[in-house]
Amino acid sequence: MSLQFDEQYKKSFDFLSTKMADSLPEFEISQKARLAAEINIWKKERNALILGHNYMEAALYHTVADVTGDSLELCRKAAETDKDILVFCGVEFMAETAKIINPEKKVLIPSDKAGCSLASSITGDDVRALKARYPGVPVVSYINTFADVKAETDICCTSGNAAEVVASLDSQTVIFIPDEYLARNVAKETGKHVIFPDIKKVDGKDTVLDRAFISWHGKCEVHDQFNVADIASVREQFPDVVVLAHPECPPDVVDAADFSGSTSAMIRYVAEVSAPRYLLLTECAMADNIIASMPQKEVLRLCSVRCPHMAQITLEDTLECLKEMKYEITLDEDTIAKAKLSIDRMLAL
Ligand code: 13P
Ligand code: SF4
Repeated sequence: MSLQFDEQYKKSFDFLSTKMADSLPEFEISQKARLAAEINIWKKERNALILGHNYMEAALYHTVADVTGDSLELCRKAAETDKDILVFCGVEFMAETAKIINPEKKVLIPSDKAGCSLASSITGDDVRALKARYPGVPVVSYINTFADVKAETDICCTSGNAAEVVASLDSQTVIFIPDEYLARNVAKETGKHVIFPDIKKVDGKDTVLDRAFISWHGKCEVHDQFNVADIASVREQFPDVVVLAHPECPPDVVDAADFSGSTSAMIRYVAEVSAPRYLLLTECAMADNIIASMPQKEVLRLCSVRCPHMAQITLEDTLECLKEMKYEITLDEDTIAKAKLSIDRMLAL
C-alpha cells in the first residue's frame, strides 16, 4: 500500500470510527474508508472537485465531498471552481445545472439512474404550451427540472430563494412550475393564490389570474409521504420535539411544523437553535449527516424515507466514475445557452 493510500485511509477511518461507530460495524467502516481513500487519490489525479448534496449517505458526504450543500449553495460553488472536472454526487438535474454553469468543463455523475420525480413531471413542450396559453407571464422554474425546461424559463429558483425570486419579478402573475406543494407554500408566503392550467376557461378566457401562481401537478415522491397525523403522533410521543419540514412537503405539513426551509436552512436551524430533540421531515440520510457532525444533538430517525434517486450514488460508483470518467453530462449548445440565462438571473439576485 502506498503512503498516500495509508494517510487517506487513516483519515477516513478515524473520522468514521469517531463519528459513526454507533451505527456502523468496524468491518463496514474499514470497507468505506478503503473506498474513500481510493476516491480521494483519484480525485487529485484527475484534478476533480466532488460536490455532495446534503442527501448523500454519511460516509460519502463526510469523507470525499469537497463541497457540500443544498441546491443553491452547490450551484454557487460549481460556478466558482477552477478544477477541470466536476463530479456531482447528487441527482441528474443538479449535475446538468453544474454543466450549464460550466459548459467548458467535464461534468460527471456516478450513476445514470439518479432521476427525480419533480424533474420528470414536466417537459420543455409543456412549458411552451403554458407560455402560449399565458403570453407575457414570466416563468419561474424550480431548479428540480431538466435542462429543456430551464431553457424555456425566465428565472430559476430553489427551495432556499423561491420567495425572493418571485418578489424580484415585475409581475403579479407568475408561471411557477413544476412543484404543486412548493407553489402552494410560496404562494402563501407571497400573498398569491394557485391555479392550474387544467382548469376550464370561462367564455374562452382564463379567470382569477390576478396575483396567481399558475402551477403544475409535480410532486416530490419523498416529501409527499409526510402527513399531519404522523406529526401529531410524534408530538404525542415526544412533546418537546421540534419539527422541521422541507417546502416540498404538503402545505398542511409545513403549517404543522415549527420551521420550514431548504436542506441547508434545516441544518443551520439544528446547529443554531437549542432544542431537546428534532424531527426532520425530509430525506433520511440528512439526519445521519447531522448526527455525524453534531453528535450532541438528539435527532429522531425516519430511515424508511430515502430518495431512491439520491440512493443511487454510492462510494463504489463514485470511484468507478473517477476511474472510468463516466457518466458524462452532455447537453447541446443551444439548450445550455438558453438555460444558463435562467440560472444566471437567479445567481445574480
Ligand atoms: P434543497 O435545495 O433544499 O437541497 O432541495 C433539493 C431537493 O431535491 C429536495 O428534495
Ligand atoms: Fe427529487 Fe424528491 Fe429525490 Fe429531491 S428528494 S431529488 S425532489 S425525488
